[in-house]
Formats: sequence, structure tokens, C-alpha cells
Amino acid sequence: MKKVTFRSLGVIKPILDSLEKQNIITPTEIQAKTIPLILEGKDIIGGSKTGSGKTLAFSCGIIKKTTHRKGIQSLVLVPTRELAEQVGNAIRKFSKFEKMDTVKVYGGVSIERQIRDLKSADIVVATPGRLLDHINRNTIRLDRVRLLVLDEADMMLDMGFLRDVEKIIQAIPKRRQTLLFSATVDGDIEHLEEKYMRNPVTVSVEQFVDSSKLSQRYMDVTSKEKFSLLVHLLKKEKTGLIMVFCNTRRNTDFVAKNLQSNGIQSVAIHGGLTQSKRKQILDDFHKGKTYALICTDVAARGLDIKDVSHVYNYDVCKDAKQYIHRIGRTARAGKDGKAITLLSERDHEDFSKIMRVNEDLEFEERPHFKQAEITFRPSGRRGGRFNHSRSGRPSRRSNAQRPRSNSNHSHISNSSRHQRR
Ligand code: ADP
Ligand code: MG
Repeated sequence: MKKVTFRSLGVIKPILDSLEKQNIITPTEIQAKTIPLILEGKDIIGGSKTGSGKTLAFSCGIIKKTTHRKGIQSLVLVPTRELAEQVGNAIRKFSKFEKMDTVKVYGGVSIERQIRDLKSADIVVATPGRLLDHINRNTIRLDRVRLLVLDEADMMLDMGFLRDVEKIIQAIPKRRQTLLFSATVDGDIEHLEEKYMRNPVTVSVEQFVDSSKLSQRYMDVTSKEKFSLLVHLLKKEKTGLIMVFCNTRRNTDFVAKNLQSNGIQSVAIHGGLTQSKRKQILDDFHKGKTYALICTDVAARGLDIKDVSHVYNYDVCKDAKQYIHRIGRTARAGKDGKAITLLSERDHEDFSKIMRVNEDLEFEERPHFKQAEITFRPSGRRGGRFNHSRSGRPSRRSNAQRPRSNSNHSHISNSSRHQRR
């Protein structure tokens, strides 16, 4: 069989040059299957495991279809600010050898600069909230858009952005190509498909993570001892970078601060921090300046960080889909990785749902470990079911001590509204 190359898929020369520079040589399966269809102008619904290069797949269509200084012709919607940064930067890299202005639009940063940049934008990568803001202020023209990408569409809808996304779609021309990428295709995604896409082709590639590269384990531990076990594991298995997932902002702060006082370099990241802070934390982590990133799902979805060797689930996530997204932060680009879930009594019910659909999970006996010191107690209100309150009594502290929410994350769906992420 003839070898598939980016050239044989029809990728244009300037992108080929950029790929060569980045040492990206062989197309992934989702790229091989979607790029020709995207270049043909077909509407696509694409699903594949995280880290399989979906950004490049749709960038090939965007860069080919977009001409410099002809107004905004391509629009990419993403659920989080971090993804807007990441995807925007990726498109800039892929279009390095073609004159093109890619503008990133998201909340938490000055709108003035965006208003200026939008005047000469060819491609826009945006979160729904801030984009609507521009639409309402009349600071963006979308009448030239011919290509719309909905990236991580399922997360966008999980975060309650459906109405915003619909308003945005209604503001762009009907004659366009629409590409939708999502881990799962059901419910609201089907609604979007029926209402806003033209005979879409569904391309689905193996959704799960490569089990030969990623080992998935779980350990039983009491909630009282969970933190001590985490300290033990982080000290024992020092290899690449580490991500620890919690379900609430409050837990990320609790874990990060106490890891610090146990001599483990760690930083918490969640939706309650300012955008510049979140960016700085991620930059430091990318560069390897921070060893352990303690994060909520919102702050970590879709992020492409090299050399994450371990993902820990300190809190169990609410569904199997979220679990896949978390563990997909490791074992990327052909490297090995480990995902370890720490289960206490109250996590069993949620975890059994994950176990049911995941055959690669293996039980591991917890090692012997010493009691770690807990210097910082959780602050703020009770953060839902996964908290550290030993007595289980509600904390007396008031809401005033909670971190302020930011506009982008005020669109949290009903199911998760009780937990700030
Ligand atoms: P996804 O959106 O599917 O989760 P990304 O688009 O974020 O994945 O890509 C993950 C990483 O893989 C990026 O760093 C990207 O540069 C890299 N990459 C993309 N395509 C290839 C390829 N064909 N070969 C090697 N690396 C690739
Ligand atoms: Mg992606």
C-alpha cells in the first residue's frame, strides 16, 4: 500500500513547510481520514482520542480556505481560554509560511486590544462568551465566515454554552462549511448536527487511549489518608511532569498548598484565577518549572502538554467521558504514561460507572506510606461531595471567601453548578 503523507492528503505547501520544521511527518489516523474530506469542503463530525492531532486536521482546511485581508473567513469556537490560546498558537505555527492574521478572543483579558486586532483578522479562535460580547458591541464582522469549527463541542455544551453557540451560529452566513469535533456524539450534539450542518460525514477513530502505552490503576484508601498516599506516590515516582485532578477549586488549593508544605513543588490551577495567572501557571508547567499541576477539569481540558508522565485522580470524576479526558493528558505522542485513581469510600459509586466501560483499569494494592502533614485546612464553603472535612460538618466560613467567578465560567450547566471548577 502506498504510504500516506501530508502531501498525498492534499495539504498545501506552506503548511507542509511548517510541518517539516516541527518534525511532524506521518499523519495520524484521524488526520488521514478527515483532511481530504475537509479540503473537499465537506461538513465533518470528527471523534478521536485526545492528542491525535485534530487541531492540525482542521487547520489544514482553515489555512487553505482563508485569504489574507479578506475579512474573517474562519472561526473556531473552543470551550476554554486556555484552549483558545493553544489552538490559536497552533494555527499561527501551521500558517507561519502563509501571510495570515489569527486573533484569539477570550474573556479575562482586555477587550480593547481584541477590538483593534479584530479589524485585520483573517482567522478567529474564540470562547463563546467573549465572542458574543463582541457581536453585541458590534466590534466583529462575521459576514465573511465560510468555515466554522466547533472544537471540543461536547465540553462546550457540558459547560452550558449551547445557547451562546446557537446565537453565534445564527450570526454567521448559512453558506459555509462546518466542522465539529467531539469525544462523544449524542443529545445536544445531534441537535446541532441536525440544525446547523449539511450532510455531515462522521469520522470516528478509536476513542480510547492506547493501552499499551498507558497503564491505568486504582487504589483503595480512606478519605482521611488520601492526601498522605498522594504525597507518598509523588515522592516515589519522580519521572516527568505530574497532573493531579480535583473536582473543586477548593480541593485544588487544599492539595497544592499541602503538597508544597510537604516539599513537593506544586501549583493549583482553576477557573477562579485571573487569566494572566492561569497563563503564567501553564507556561511554567510547559517549561517544566513546576513539577505538579493540581487542576480542575475546566482548566485542563484538551491541553497539550508534553512529558506528563502521571495523571492522578485525587477526586473521582462524575462520568467515564471526563475520565478519558483526564487520563488523555498523559501517554501522548507515543510516550508511556500512568493514570492512578485514588478511591475512598464515597468514590466507589461514581467509579463503578467508569469501570463498567473501561477494561484496562487494574486494581493495585496501596503501598505502605507515612502520615503526611496537613498544614492548610480547606477554606471557603463546602465544595460538594468531595471534600476533606474530617467531621463532615459544613464549614462556617462564608461565601465571601470563595474566589470570584469569572465571566467565562458563569455558564456552568445545572448538573455541575454546585461545584466550582
Ligand atoms: P487533539 O486535539 O486531538 O487532542 P492536538 O491537536 O492538541 O490533539 O495535538 C496534540 C499534539 O500532537 C500537538 O503537539 C501536535 O503538534 C502534535 N501532532 C499533531 N499531528 C501530529 C502528527 N501527525 N505526528 C506527530 N505529532 C503530531
Ligand atoms: Mg483538541
